[in-house]
Amino acid sequence: MKLKKVMLIVLAIAIVVTAGFLLIKGRDIKKDNSGKIKIISSNFASYDFLRAIIGDNNDVELTFLIGPGKDPHSYDPTAQDLISIQKSDLFVYIGGEMENWADKVLDAIDSNTTEKICIADFVDTIEEKDVDGAEKEENEHDEEKNGAYDEHIWTSPSNAIKMVDALEKAMEKIDNSNSKKYKENSEKYIAQIKDVDNKIQNIVNNKVRDRLVFGDKMPMQYFIDYYKLKVSSAFNGCSTEIDPSASTIAYLENKVKEENIPVVLYIELNPGKVASIIANEAGDNCQAMQIQALHNVSLDDFNNGETWVSLMSRNIDVLKKALQ
Ligand SMILES: [Zn+2]
Repeated sequence: MKLKKVMLIVLAIAIVVTAGFLLIKGRDIKKDNSGKIKIISSNFASYDFLRAIIGDNNDVELTFLIGPGKDPHSYDPTAQDLISIQKSDLFVYIGGEMENWADKVLDAIDSNTTEKICIADFVDTIEEKDVDGAEKEENEHDEEKNGAYDEHIWTSPSNAIKMVDALEKAMEKIDNSNSKKYKENSEKYIAQIKDVDNKIQNIVNNKVRDRLVFGDKMPMQYFIDYYKLKVSSAFNGCSTEIDPSASTIAYLENKVKEENIPVVLYIELNPGKVASIIANEAGDNCQAMQIQALHNVSLDDFNNGETWVSLMSRNIDVLKKALQ
């Protein structure tokens, strides 16, 4: 009887220790033959933040799923993408209307072996807004739009910092042995984000006007709200339409003339045709300029190693011209 009790206790301890060991070891078990921890990010901002956090750690393999130079709104995962995500240790996505494909991917993921993070869960999301001047989309159902969050969360520095924090904690969870390094790297990166933020804030503080005009899509509502600016644009958020109507163009031309606005903006990966038309109509004192919404990077910028910080820094001169 006594012996049986001792054996039961020994067995119980063995189970607890094994379970604890498995919990601590956690995702290390997932490491494949390459021995590398595999991380996949759907969008560029999270990819860039993870790249900064991971730093020179060669044991981690980071993949930018959608890839440079492409429109994230028209991406659909291939069979190979699905397999890569299933094999990954961490999958980071934004979700929302832009990544509605994520649902089918998440269904196929074993959450015991792959950590998944909807990075939008870590910021204060806002609902999609109707922007001044913007073309109404004909096929847009109001029910679909109601309650949908604006998925372009990365455009405000405060959200960017929250994203870095969340991703740093996720890295610590799957690779605790390097937690000190991840913490250091993320602190360094957050300092760089704050530095760009200060430079932009300084321009905003010394502005002579507060309206930005986009002759394009306008995926920067978080940025606009953060710096307390006003905005007019040809399209709400990221419309699938390409050419605004004559009345939308006329409205924006009028706005630019009325408020003496010197810059009409267009976003990266866009040749800026509509912005140029509006700027030309407004006269010699107005020009079309590109602003980095960081929706994605061009292939050239990607190959040159451009980052959220370096791309957002390009906006400093543009904003100076537009607001001062
Ligand atoms: Zn978009």
